[in-house]
Amino acid sequence: MEKIGNADNLIKEAKSIIDLRYKKGAHSVGAALRTKSGKIYTGISIKGLKLDLCSEWTAIGRAFVEGETEIESIVAVHRKEDGTFEFFPPCGLCRELLTKYCPDALVIFSENEFKKASDLLPSAWKR
Ligand SMILES: [Zn+2]
Repeated sequence: MEKIGNADNLIKEAKSIIDLRYKKGAHSVGAALRTKSGKIYTGISIKGLKLDLCSEWTAIGRAFVEGETEIESIVAVHRKEDGTFEFFPPCGLCRELLTKYCPDALVIFSENEFKKASDLLPSAWKR
């Protein structure tokens, strides 16, 4: 992994949105993404009865609704019950979504670590 500049603000935004919307058993992960235009969109995880939506999906959905489809970087953080945070690497479904819609995006794993989205799902299937 390599270093990424300008990640601190995105991490701060992800922490901020899940701190604001945290609800035990319902919302515990926050995501923030930056588009190539420089705008930041946030999302939160949504826990349902049978299906959970990842925070990355809601952040990407918000960006796409606004016509912002070129994603430069994305990060997700988990807020624990005690109010502390940990980085939250993308799950398999998120890796597939990121590979399909923003393969060149940088996925942030920590303050100074990232990987290109397309590297997170090698030999991805194509339809
Ligand atoms: Zn996910």
